[in-house]
Amino acid sequence: MEKELMALRDAATQELVQANDLSSLNELRVKYLGKKGSLTAILRGLGGLSPEERPRIGQVVNEIREEMERLLAEKTEELKAVELSRRLASERIDVTLPGRRPEMGHLHPLTKTLDIIKDTFMRMGFEIVGGPEVERDFYNFEALGLPKNHPARDMQDSFYITEEILLRTHTSPVQVRTMLAHPPNHPIRVIAPGKVYRRDYDATHAPMFQQVEGLVVDKGITLGDLKGTLELFVQEVFGKDVKMRMRPSFFPFTEPSAEVDISCVMCSGKGCRVCKGTGWLEILGSGMVHPRVLEGGNYDTAVVSGFAFGMGVERIAMLLYGIDDLRLFFDNDLRFLRQF
Ligand SMILES: [Zn+2]
Repeated sequence: MEKELMALRDAATQELVQANDLSSLNELRVKYLGKKGSLTAILRGLGGLSPEERPRIGQVVNEIREEMERLLAEKTEELKAVELSRRLASERIDVTLPGRRPEMGHLHPLTKTLDIIKDTFMRMGFEIVGGPEVERDFYNFEALGLPKNHPARDMQDSFYITEEILLRTHTSPVQVRTMLAHPPNHPIRVIAPGKVYRRDYDATHAPMFQQVEGLVVDKGITLGDLKGTLELFVQEVFGKDVKMRMRPSFFPFTEPSAEVDISCVMCSGKGCRVCKGTGWLEILGSGMVHPRVLEGGNYDTAVVSGFAFGMGVERIAMLLYGIDDLRLFFDNDLRFLRQF
């Protein structure tokens, strides 16, 4: 038995020394140490030996196995080093190949649209202000003339944190906050961009979207100032040929109130599917600041007046880029995003 083992060891050692690539090393490992290998077979056969022989032969087998494992590991390292130096000698870096450029990202279409809106109003002298997205019911509704149970609250179905705190449903609470941050009757010319939240989800509504609120308060501000400001905005964003019209409407926080339409950017006002054949597209709501809102901001309605407007950034972006489903903005599909 021992002689047989020594012969096995010598044969294995010889073959190992002669092996000259990694795959033949692996074959040797299987041949001797694998599940069906010769050494494994001997180990399994130990049960047939006498109790005196068993421990001694077992020890010899283990010694041989350890030695083989050590030799295999050594040889593997050796062959790997050979392989590496062979590759280093044969492979060359071609410095004339064009480099792999890192792919540059770009701004999201909504960010681009918001930048255009901000830029346009900043050139008209507007300042950019912000307000909290988690808002008090008071600023979001009550200070704007929407007491509890007011039917218009239903149109802005909200995410409530508590009964008095909610995710703001529009950027209009910034109107009151801005006035309160100034001394009474101090002139204001601001836009307030930001995220707002409503319980809606379809092709033209998302639970989160962005609005830009505008507020101008000063002595002698009229509806004419509102119209002029919006006309300039519309032409800067959609082009000089785009017409604008104001339609009487109702908002609790402006009086009088107006919806603002532009001539359809898809069909130039001739009538198409996008404008539902009317030739006009609604883009924002506006009006003269309601005296109640001015008073809520500690402003004296006998001294100052103001106008306000609010627009959806997604809506403007959809018209600007001809996008028909608002959900595309939030899907993060690169096939969509790469088009901008
Ligand atoms: Zn049209």
